[in-house]
Amino acid sequence: MVRENEIRENEVKIEAPETVDAGLVFFGRIRTPWSSRMETPRQGRHDGPVCEIEIFEPWVPALKGVERFERLEILYWLDRSRRDLVLQSPGDNGEVHGTFSIRSPVRPNPIGTSIVILEKVEGNRLFVRGLDCLDGTPLIDLKPERSLFKPIAAPQKGDFEVGDGVH
Ligand code: SAM
Repeated sequence: MVRENEIRENEVKIEAPETVDAGLVFFGRIRTPWSSRMETPRQGRHDGPVCEIEIFEPWVPALKGVERFERLEILYWLDRSRRDLVLQSPGDNGEVHGTFSIRSPVRPNPIGTSIVILEKVEGNRLFVRGLDCLDGTPLIDLKPERSLFKPIAAPQKGDFEVGDGVH
């Protein structure tokens, strides 16, 4: 039976550094129908169940204008994930893949991202479809989906640069 944090055949674990390079603020919490990783979708679907994103104070005013966007990009902290594998076997069949070549929750910084459909906003709560995380997963960011967002600030030099960069 597949367990939740096991090491599989040919997977490679490293001694993860204890130092921390950045602090995060968990400014919200995601409520979903899933309490087990064995039931959670591998990737959210836009016709999947509605999930609720609760924003904590003092960050609630930061939701101003968010209702204008049909799709949002959500970043969340996969808090129940191990963080120490460099080679992983998602298929549990001895074939391994580099952590940075897959979208497994097991990563040095277990950040999940999903593009979601925004159904409605009620006060400090957003109702969305398209998530794939466990109930209670901490929220670390949300922003308009890139293709729907036009920068408001005036353009600057780099916006017009094309061609070769650093070699
Ligand atoms: N859509 C995101 C991405 O591509 O960055 C996450 C994809 S990841 C494959 C989704 C899986 O992460 C779920 O199927 C579940 O097994 C696992 N997962 C979800 N929430 C988690 C949590 N809070 N802690 C640890 N693992 C979690």
